[in-house]
Amino acid sequence: METEIHIVEVRPRLHMLTFPIGQAYVWRDGDGLTLVDAGWSGAAGLIEEAIGKAGHRPEHLRRIVLTHAHRDHVGAAGELAGRYGAQVIAHRLDAPVIRGEAPVPEPDLLDWEIPLYERGLTVPVAPPTRVDREVGDGDELGFGDGARVVHTPGHTDGSIAVHLPRHGVLFTGDTVASVGRVGLGVFHVDREDAKASMRRLAALPPDTVTTVCFGHGEPLTTNASSVLRAATTRDADHH
Ligand SMILES: [Zn+2]
Ligand SMILES: [Zn+2]
Repeated sequence: METEIHIVEVRPRLHMLTFPIGQAYVWRDGDGLTLVDAGWSGAAGLIEEAIGKAGHRPEHLRRIVLTHAHRDHVGAAGELAGRYGAQVIAHRLDAPVIRGEAPVPEPDLLDWEIPLYERGLTVPVAPPTRVDREVGDGDELGFGDGARVVHTPGHTDGSIAVHLPRHGVLFTGDTVASVGRVGLGVFHVDREDAKASMRRLAALPPDTVTTVCFGHGEPLTTNASSVLRAATTRDADHH
């Protein structure tokens, strides 16, 4: 698959990078850039170009936060971190997978997910990638005026969401997706845990969730919290 990437402004300080499968985000603070996820292996040069098109300088990349260990999110992290000395951050339960010290956990696939999953396997495998800082639930990430980790196990054990309460921004990783409509994501290692994690995200205070950015699909920028809550009632509540 040809790696073609695009960059789209979500908010003045927030851009989305789109890959043939999956997305990453660039957040700008006064003193530097943070990537949330890192797209495909081999795409570092294209990511730099895209960051430049957004009016930023790739040399200002300070950190790369990985929402989980999958190849469409880790891909270019190691190469970009190596070029710019950026810190790579991931949850402690996914860090060994990202480093290549443990296998990528097998998802518990539903029948209809199998063809989609096979398509995902066309994404280049991420090389073993360094993780400089391992984090856990509630840890502060050092950007976005108080960005915090929300541990959201289920998609993988060490999946995280990244919440910027002061800016109303939530990055869900693959726990939630908006492909067609907002809903529970696909390819979870533990679907029930992923549902519980989705409920946790939907329960964040609404005024701290005005923009929701997914690993796959269009960001939510209107009625974000209520759309997320409605999707959670439909897909993740036990009734
Ligand atoms: Zn993904
Ligand atoms: Zn994933």
